[in-house]
Amino acid sequence: MAKPKVGIFGLTSCAGDQLVVVNLEDELLDVVGAIDLRSFIMAASNPVEDEFDVALVEGSVVTAEDEERLREIRAKSKLLVAIGTCAVWGGIPGALNDLGRNTLYRIVYGTDEDLFKASVARPLKAVVPVDFALPGCPIEKHQFLEALASLLHGDLPIAHNTPVCLDCRFNENLCLLKAKGQLCLGPVTAGGCRARCPSHGLPCEGCHGPVEEANFASEVAILQEKGFSRERVARAIRNFAHQADLARTS
Ligand code: SF4
Ligand code: SF4
Repeated sequence: MAKPKVGIFGLTSCAGDQLVVVNLEDELLDVVGAIDLRSFIMAASNPVEDEFDVALVEGSVVTAEDEERLREIRAKSKLLVAIGTCAVWGGIPGALNDLGRNTLYRIVYGTDEDLFKASVARPLKAVVPVDFALPGCPIEKHQFLEALASLLHGDLPIAHNTPVCLDCRFNENLCLLKAKGQLCLGPVTAGGCRARCPSHGLPCEGCHGPVEEANFASEVAILQEKGFSRERVARAIRNFAHQADLARTS
């Protein structure tokens, strides 16, 4: 049976998710042996970009070039998978800043402010249909391998639709929100990271973006009882997912 033709791409991003793939170490040779890797700028030269069974795309859509490239990749791919929270939610590039975009351009680029034209970062799904979303900042290695294994079997991967709190329970962690009153976004954040941060005594910052049916209203109310303002909580939630609808309740 022919190996699936795979391409790995990056739009505007830090390339952290692509680095997770490069850093697979023990599994990398098996992964490369199981697929026909047609295009991956970080690991292979001479890309062949006629068609793909699976395209893995990192980054958010910030420039006109990003949008054009994404549409081109989509047109050549049977399945398109968004990898990383930038691709799934807009991520850190979409974090809102009270100063406003034009002021930021002037601060960063000075008199050359017209050199770099960008829009507010959009997730891939705002531009093209996305078949599967694998969030994370960066993605977790074990989640990537699980998703890839499903794709190689011809199945769509199963999304993690449980919050980080469940991972915390599995690890028998002390709850940082309830026991210590810390601003932990675990209840409204998509799990699968094995509660990486709370397991080290740090509250969840929401880097995987909102879990399906996140009850933001309840999270805000609980954190207000702990002394955090609504604005402070909203800003934390929107760091990684600026499009999160904070009025939404499950
Ligand atoms: S520490 Fe955070 S992620 Fe863990 S159970 Fe408490 S609220 Fe949930
Ligand atoms: S605990 Fe939260 S911030 Fe930490 S890796 Fe998991 S989702 Fe990201």
